Amino acid sequence: MVGINEGAIVELISGPFKGEMARVKRVDVAKEEIVNRLTSRRVCADCKAVYNLSMLPDGDGSRCAKCGGKLITRPDDREETVRRRLEVYEEQTSPVLEFYRRSTGVTEIPGTGDIDGITAEIIRAMK
Ligand SMILES: [Zn+2]
Repeated sequence: MVGINEGAIVELISGPFKGEMARVKRVDVAKEEIVNRLTSRRVCADCKAVYNLSMLPDGDGSRCAKCGGKLITRPDDREETVRRRLEVYEEQTSPVLEFYRRSTGVTEIPGTGDIDGITAEIIRAMK
């Protein structure tokens, strides 16, 4: 298990970002939604176009609409790998988020629903 202690965080933010006011935003998406999104991703083996199974017509999920190439699941997008990536992310990110929650605060942005609405929320939070 990889961990980051608070000393390492302080060293990180007092180095390259020294003197800058951190404005931390976090786009919040439920773990199962992330797993679903990533395990539904397919990539064209030939032209590398990216698809999501939920956006492809039924029965049309095996070939690329652009070049006819075979759609594959990247090893990184297999469920077991996605869950492991999320565990590592949580282990490494939680201490950093906690640090910012206690210092400058973190703006939480809901990351589910309409993409334009999420984008607008992110832009509003940046102002
Ligand atoms: Zn293709």
